[in-house]
Amino acid sequence: MSSTQTTCPYCGVGCGIIAQTDSTQFVTIQGDKSHPANFGKLCSKGIALSGTLGLEGRLLHPEIDNNSCDWNTALDKVATEFKRIIEQYGPQAIAFYVSGQLLTEDYYVANKFMKGFIGAGNIDTNSRLCMSSSLSGYKRAFGSDTVPGNYEDIEQADLVVLVGSNLAWCHPILFQRLMIAKEKRPNQKIVVIDPRHTATCEIADTHLAINAGSDIWLFNGLLDFLRYNDYLDYEYLEQATAGFAAAFQTARESSGSISDITQHTGLEEEQILEFFQLFADNKKVVTLYSQGVNQSTSGTDKVNSIINCHLATGRLGQVGMGPFSMTGQPNAMGGREVGALANQLASHMDFSTEHCDLVQEFWQATNIATSPGLKAIDLFNAVHAGEVKAIWIMATNPVVSLPNANLVKQALAECELVIVSDCVRDNDTTAHANVLFPTLAWGEKNGTVTNSERRISRQRAFLPAPAETKADWWILSQVAQRMGYEKAFSYSSSADIFREYVALSGYKNEGTRDFDLSGLLPFSDEEYQALKPVQWPICDSSEHCTGLRGTERMFTDKRFFTNSGKAQFISITPRPPASLPDIKFPFVLNTGRIRDQWHTMTRTGRIARLLRHTGESYVEIHPNDAQTANINQGSLVTVSSRLGKWMGRAKLTTNQQMGNLFIPMHFNSQTSNCARVDVLVAPHTDPISGQPEFKHTPVKISAYRPVWQGFILSKQPLTLPTKDIDYSVKILSDNCWRYELAGETKPDNWNLWLHHNFGADLEWLEYQDRANGCYNYANLIQDRLNICMFIGKDEKLPARHGLIQLFTRDKLTPAERLALLTGHNDENINNTICACFNIGHNELVTAIKEQDLKTITQIGEKMQAGSNCGSCIPELKALLK
Ligand code: SF4
Repeated sequence: MSSTQTTCPYCGVGCGIIAQTDSTQFVTIQGDKSHPANFGKLCSKGIALSGTLGLEGRLLHPEIDNNSCDWNTALDKVATEFKRIIEQYGPQAIAFYVSGQLLTEDYYVANKFMKGFIGAGNIDTNSRLCMSSSLSGYKRAFGSDTVPGNYEDIEQADLVVLVGSNLAWCHPILFQRLMIAKEKRPNQKIVVIDPRHTATCEIADTHLAINAGSDIWLFNGLLDFLRYNDYLDYEYLEQATAGFAAAFQTARESSGSISDITQHTGLEEEQILEFFQLFADNKKVVTLYSQGVNQSTSGTDKVNSIINCHLATGRLGQVGMGPFSMTGQPNAMGGREVGALANQLASHMDFSTEHCDLVQEFWQATNIATSPGLKAIDLFNAVHAGEVKAIWIMATNPVVSLPNANLVKQALAECELVIVSDCVRDNDTTAHANVLFPTLAWGEKNGTVTNSERRISRQRAFLPAPAETKADWWILSQVAQRMGYEKAFSYSSSADIFREYVALSGYKNEGTRDFDLSGLLPFSDEEYQALKPVQWPICDSSEHCTGLRGTERMFTDKRFFTNSGKAQFISITPRPPASLPDIKFPFVLNTGRIRDQWHTMTRTGRIARLLRHTGESYVEIHPNDAQTANINQGSLVTVSSRLGKWMGRAKLTTNQQMGNLFIPMHFNSQTSNCARVDVLVAPHTDPISGQPEFKHTPVKISAYRPVWQGFILSKQPLTLPTKDIDYSVKILSDNCWRYELAGETKPDNWNLWLHHNFGADLEWLEYQDRANGCYNYANLIQDRLNICMFIGKDEKLPARHGLIQLFTRDKLTPAERLALLTGHNDENINNTICACFNIGHNELVTAIKEQDLKTITQIGEKMQAGSNCGSCIPELKALLK
């Protein structure tokens, strides 16, 4: 067994992992007890990482136009085409679209190549979609993109305000840290501000179910309350800030009286005043916010309206306080640090003449970009318009994840040259690639990532590179060298790159820039290998920097990186979202994450255990709205916007406000033929950050009533016919593949249809109830279930769970054969709650009732549920309630 310390590749919590590998390359994953982000805990996704390490579905060789080729051919092709396009159209005709999945070293090289040598600013990252408003807000207030505090502050706070953050599902381990902190100190207060009642609300003292998009009215109102009730920290205001009077005046005038705030937010006056008083009474307040704040056309203003309240009361720079943005991706912060957003230059420097000169000098750049490039939405619009002729997409899947996803798809289909670097062969984006570069996957890569609390951790390889896969930085460097930039891209290892990056961060810095790692220099390969998790800045000029322990907390000295050295209040006038519901599109659609999936499911979608919780996409709708639209629990529905159409199951829940809908963001064309939710979302963006408004799309919803519905369970994956099937979902289950299907036309003969599509030689047992439109078929091979299909008139079909269990049997009993054919089995619909031990809702409810279980601990002792990763604890708490 060899043991490697590395970091989780999923969310921005940045949990440490120990990967143990045996001589057969069998890998066991455990939480790293020494890592200060997670202290040994991992969530359901992190624990299941070993299931993502196989080579099935991997891209293993370079390809041109879907044909394998050697590396030289592929690299030469890209370098030659880049040179031709630059010569013909100029550097602006080239663009890179990169990802928070990249390691810092990959990011650094991509940014240097584009901004220093190609000579355009056209590199943007998918982090634009999750946290660029936080970046803009920090820069406006602090003069720098600096997260002031850390995770410990969240535990130490007396009041934690969670705004637009379903921490329980999106950042599970940080949620668990908060949950434990509250159990130790029951007086700690937690307020959740969110239009939805999410799993996070299970530990909240108060849930403020605010109207979607109305946050600024609330926080402007809070600023007003703090001023008029004399809760300001005048000394802090004087010493450390500028612009309070104007910001306060704007807040007061634009947000109006408490009854105006009530009207805009939809909250009761009493609720609002209680929250204001709670904020005022607690010095140690952390306001943690995430995509619910950022993904808005007012995202940057929302961030600053929160920061204003912290500045006004001096709740910053000390233990247990501060505004805190949680990033979605494992290395969104690394992307910000290297400058891989189109409006940054490098190393937290922007496009000022001084910074352009400095970076040009340091890189010895032949063609430094001097102005920002195209942000994500503009970038794909430019591809669509034919202005960008070549786009290189790295480790991301924009055909699923960008707003107006159908336009993105069309843009790539028509683009002259699409290059995709990925570890996955087939996804919605690789389908449009002219050139495919096979990259290393997690477990094979070497480099660094930065989590949401500025902590840099190592990702270390513990598996060899399979086939012809290469590091992203190597591929980028090879293309750059072929374009004539040999010297600037002659890296031989990720340590080489990191050393250069560290040196740039300190180059002519002298305390003028927040991002400074120069305390690490000189930095040997051995030191890089051994680097322990450390929070930047790491330098002499950081007041509390303690060598390799870095800097826990920023702005303790009340000095900021603005010209005046003071934090800047921003005057904020609230404004409505870009597009409002109307008669035609009367609902507000919100999109977001679910507990056990990551991004576009290219990895987590391959793990049966993670699909037990949710395998099929759904739309949450309030029962009253569902009743009006004649929609039943679990029935199929269509949701449409001005841009596209989505289809999935209805989930009726009072967690959703009336008039609001929620659809998960993850589902792709490989898992479903119509569940890409971003085909609905309009590309409206925040004017400062360029972040799209994913949380407020006007849509309509209606029941979808196909002629037939059904499902197939099969031992082997199937190729489904497109004829007769209008809705299809493919879900990997524990013992088989599950296909959920529906159609608007019905084959004349299901038996012939089965023979025609799934093998003429298979013998089918069949059961037909023509009067009720039920057709059940099963094929057994040597008494073992091979494939079965159930067709009905609507969604009232046999429960899948019990049937899936039959695939484990060596031989079906007569009773099981009968159950199989009649579709009757003992299992009712039973959603899995605990993915670790595969325990469903029904078993838990029965045990809670019959064994009189009252606590999470008792459930863990009796049922095991919740005793491993803990990701299901919020749902267990809800069941206990
Ligand atoms: Fe990975 Fe889960 Fe930790 Fe996020 S919370 S870093 S997904 S283990």
